[in-house]
Amino acid sequence: MDTVPDEQQANAQPAPAEPEGTPTLATELAAPTVSRAYRCQCGRPVFLRNSKCLACHTPLGYVIDRLGVMPLAPAVGEGAQPDTFTVFGDPHGKTYRRCTNLMTPAACSWMVPAAREGETLPDDTQGLAPGYCLACSVTRTIPDLSVEANGELWGKLETAKRRLISQLLALGLPVVSRHADPVHGLTFDFLSNMPGGPHVMTGHQHGVITLNAEEAEDAVRERIRAEMREPYRTLLGHFRHEVGHYYWDLLVLPTPWIDDFRALFGDERADYAAALQHHYEQGPPPDWADRFVSSYASTHPWEDWAETWAHYLHMADTADTAMSFGVDATNVELASDLFTTDDLWQPDAPDAGKFLDFINGWVLLTNVLNELSRSMGQPDYYPFVLPRAAVGKLQFIHRVITQQRPGSAPTMVVASDVADSAPDEQEQSQGQSQSPAQS
Ligand SMILES: [Zn+2]
Ligand SMILES: [Zn+2]
Ligand SMILES: [Zn+2]
Repeated sequence: MDTVPDEQQANAQPAPAEPEGTPTLATELAAPTVSRAYRCQCGRPVFLRNSKCLACHTPLGYVIDRLGVMPLAPAVGEGAQPDTFTVFGDPHGKTYRRCTNLMTPAACSWMVPAAREGETLPDDTQGLAPGYCLACSVTRTIPDLSVEANGELWGKLETAKRRLISQLLALGLPVVSRHADPVHGLTFDFLSNMPGGPHVMTGHQHGVITLNAEEAEDAVRERIRAEMREPYRTLLGHFRHEVGHYYWDLLVLPTPWIDDFRALFGDERADYAAALQHHYEQGPPPDWADRFVSSYASTHPWEDWAETWAHYLHMADTADTAMSFGVDATNVELASDLFTTDDLWQPDAPDAGKFLDFINGWVLLTNVLNELSRSMGQPDYYPFVLPRAAVGKLQFIHRVITQQRPGSAPTMVVASDVADSAPDEQEQSQGQSQSPAQS
């Protein structure tokens, strides 16, 4: 296999797998972001969790500037500091250090910018904790590691969070930790139930995402999933849902998007506590499946947003991964109809056609993925049916996200620009542990 040039990974744009004109999943899907297929300098595929190539032993690390797992070489030459690396094949490029969490149960393979002697690094606008990468810098509380089982749980939590953060960065969303913005920065508390203490609720409030560490225990999470009759419950799903609340505070509430949000999702000023209580006592409305991506989404406009947001992230990441690996689903027998421009929120938006291709490519892809799962006796890969009403909401989210990218107008909203007016949407005070908060 040929070595992939660094620039190709740096630009991280998946190349079309087939010549133009041939309908492939890649052309149909028009996935929005970044390659998920990473390669070592020896040409072998490597993955997000790898810190070393198993074939040629080249050190690997996730480099934020390149939005990918990169092969590394020890930094050499003038001013090179001990234990620093450059991207393989780029000896005069930026230098990096390992994240302090590599040797902990978090097993973090991400890289931290490190200056050469006499060099100064550009200002850190994302708020790195000293010695830690961005993904680890947004963790504020970890499980008590003197309890032996907690190391493994923490590792699972961090692995899922790194997947989340790498996607947020690829989408061009602002990721700013509490170190840079103590009021509106993003941070995660991984808490455990204490004997005699209150049950730790999963939720989001003002940038703080709380997750009960027991969710990382497969047996516990599966029991809750079954009790709640949810089709899907994962750590990554929790993170994608909760970070949706965070970005709503940041990108929707204080911006002109709020009016369109209310028109599409409903008025979020409706009593949240009463809405949740109603949901748990009465269940979802009988027609929820025609209007929402999940039954939990029907509880309140905030939850509809967070659930739909999580679905968008699921779809975008899966589409990127499928395209990166050249997966092609064009010969699929369709069990469902495709969506049309009538289903869009803004059929005349500049990228409306591409967005519709993305959604329909997703329908094709998940038909195959679900069938593949069934052939292994596994639950469906994507155990949801997208109702037509959700397509407009997904397009709204797509537009909010794509407007964050550099070069798009309006310019990026940074955390510190947001007025401290975000309403309380804390599920944790409302019994999120009983709520699916799931995507
Ligand atoms: Zn290798
Ligand atoms: Zn790290
Ligand atoms: Zn929620």
